[in-house]
Amino acid sequence: MIKIFIICTLLSLCVSANAQYYSRTGRWSLKTADTIIVFEIKEGNPVIVDLLSTAAKSKPNNWAVGTPEADLPDSVEIDGQTNKVTWEYKGIKQREGQISFTYQSKDPSLEYVSTWEAARLVLNPGNIVERYQTLPGPVEHSAYLVNKTRKTVILAPTATITLPLMPQSGQSPDIWWIEKTAGHVSDVGIHIDALTPGYEKTLRCGPYSQTDATRDAFPWFCVHDKESKCGVYGGVEFSGWTQILIKREPNAVTRVSMGLDQREGKTRTRLAPGEKLQFPTCFIGAYKGEVEDGTHGLHRWVEKHLRPPIPGGVTPLLVNNSWGSGMAVDEALAKTMIDDCADLGIEMYHVDAGWFKEVGDWHSHPEKFPNGLEKIADYTHSKDLKFGLWVGWTQGGSIKNPGPDVLSPFNPEQKSWFANDYPEDWKNAAFKGATACMGCEDARNWCLNDLRRMVKQYKLDLLEHDQNMILSGCEREGHGHIPNDSVDVSRAAAEGYYAVYDQLRKENPNLLFEDCVNGGRLFDFGVAKRAHYICMSDDFAALPLRKDFYDSSYPFPPSMLEAYIRNKVGDSVANFRYMLRSAMLGWCTIMTDMSKWTPEERAAAKREFAIYKDKLRPFIASGNVYHVLPRPDGKNWDGMQYADQKGDKGVLYVFRPQSEKDTQAVILRGLNPKKRYAIEATDGSASGTYTGEELMKSGLTVRLAEKQSSDLIFFNTAK
Ligand SMILES: [Zn+2]
Repeated sequence: MIKIFIICTLLSLCVSANAQYYSRTGRWSLKTADTIIVFEIKEGNPVIVDLLSTAAKSKPNNWAVGTPEADLPDSVEIDGQTNKVTWEYKGIKQREGQISFTYQSKDPSLEYVSTWEAARLVLNPGNIVERYQTLPGPVEHSAYLVNKTRKTVILAPTATITLPLMPQSGQSPDIWWIEKTAGHVSDVGIHIDALTPGYEKTLRCGPYSQTDATRDAFPWFCVHDKESKCGVYGGVEFSGWTQILIKREPNAVTRVSMGLDQREGKTRTRLAPGEKLQFPTCFIGAYKGEVEDGTHGLHRWVEKHLRPPIPGGVTPLLVNNSWGSGMAVDEALAKTMIDDCADLGIEMYHVDAGWFKEVGDWHSHPEKFPNGLEKIADYTHSKDLKFGLWVGWTQGGSIKNPGPDVLSPFNPEQKSWFANDYPEDWKNAAFKGATACMGCEDARNWCLNDLRRMVKQYKLDLLEHDQNMILSGCEREGHGHIPNDSVDVSRAAAEGYYAVYDQLRKENPNLLFEDCVNGGRLFDFGVAKRAHYICMSDDFAALPLRKDFYDSSYPFPPSMLEAYIRNKVGDSVANFRYMLRSAMLGWCTIMTDMSKWTPEERAAAKREFAIYKDKLRPFIASGNVYHVLPRPDGKNWDGMQYADQKGDKGVLYVFRPQSEKDTQAVILRGLNPKKRYAIEATDGSASGTYTGEELMKSGLTVRLAEKQSSDLIFFNTAK
């Protein structure tokens, strides 16, 4: 006992930059700019004793109630027998910003390592090293389990984080959760439920979400205490099936657990001797203030830490995507589109589906592109534009007698890479085929090599993936998952997909990655670690795109949220600007044949595009986004606001859809009450100079004469 006590005392260091915060021995703390988590050894085991916002000055703001820091599995199956596992805490390892707790079981011989982290170095291309330790954001938790026996071990995965949380005021806080955009925007979007005793909710998120009643939730939650104005949020950094379980006990405590989807204890995973099970990394953060005060910290953390560094540093870009003309794209049409892009000030030309020979045969279509897609890349680059390409690279096609450079379930060598056998009369759709299981090592190596070729041959600046990337159903053995266990299949396939992209990015650090997957069906914090931006949905119209943005911009930073805009809403130039601006809240991709625009529309587009790049982009890239009007419904006015970090300047986007009212007061947020702000409305819907207090209490009155019109209202601190 004495020996253990001495070791603990020697190791008792505060790991955060704020080394004085907890000076007592036997405690370890991790800290970001807004979240602190503290561990202590109690009765021989590490326990979370504090979880609070750095803005909280006193203990009553502590959310933690003391709980084991790890959710250890209490039994495993070996040779068909259930074996109880008795874990023993072995010790702590630490380095700057990271603490690892190790647990071991003697019989069966297992090891579990649980790691908490609050700092990491981010290396950008160009070797800019940035510490995000001083940034706000959550603390991360990851864990793995190693099978040290000589036999195969089967277990039901436990959660990565399980925490009881104590609301500050003792009242019922709210639980916020949001439906995924998943193909087409949901009717409801954001749910704010009262966390009354007995409340229970499981938020499931899968790798290919459905638009129907089984629609998933974003792998994110927020528990917000209105009375005490503070809260806790968390999320899962994984793209296989995951869950967040929120349960209010009969007392005030709310139990939150995050990790792999447990399917009510029915899912299993299998570990060969020596094999390691990596549990999904999860995060948890605390904040003072409103829900958006927490999400702003999360946004900065995703931008700086989670998302891959942005090649060239500029985000979001202005893009034209050839899908405005569907599958018709060919060399002549592509050149016209590129000329239009250059004339209108667009920064990237993106070829969508329609360029390839066949599904699975990812080479230029010989008749559409007789000189090869590489010539289109050259032409794009000659106009000083970036070149992007759509590839459904996990999709195998139905080509008969396929060669080795084609992905197909009809290739005898590749047959076992697919989830099941395909009948001889099976045919792929125009741009969708059979999904290869990324749990299969041979399949992912083939895909990685084909991607390497395409990136080089077609001189890509951006790679967009589409269609299903991560299977949930696969009956094969030898893919690193239990056959037909949908959670385990998705776990192995997600890890395989990550391995392909992590390697491809390592070899091509200047390549941008876009996640489409049929419009926001794969939309989580695991893919956000691989893709620079995510297409929110396959909604191409102004109103659903604004709803998509309204919902997604709570958990995800605006610059990652891509809108594909195509559908016109009316005939006037004001209607045209309304359409464009609906896609300019985040990453803007124009998905329409721009050659069909009238001279007036082209002039309007040039002006809007210049505003997007010069004035809106800095706010979208790193500003705080505020939901200042209710969720768009097509009847009432809607709008979003940005403010810079200091609250010195910002922009209000306002939209008058079909409302009969021609004026709307908007209460602004995030400003300095004492400073004066000059209003500059692009289309003249408001004017004047006001104090921050006036704008945040009485609001700014905006007037728009026409239905389906809009404005971009900038405000700057007046001299
Ligand atoms: Zn498989």
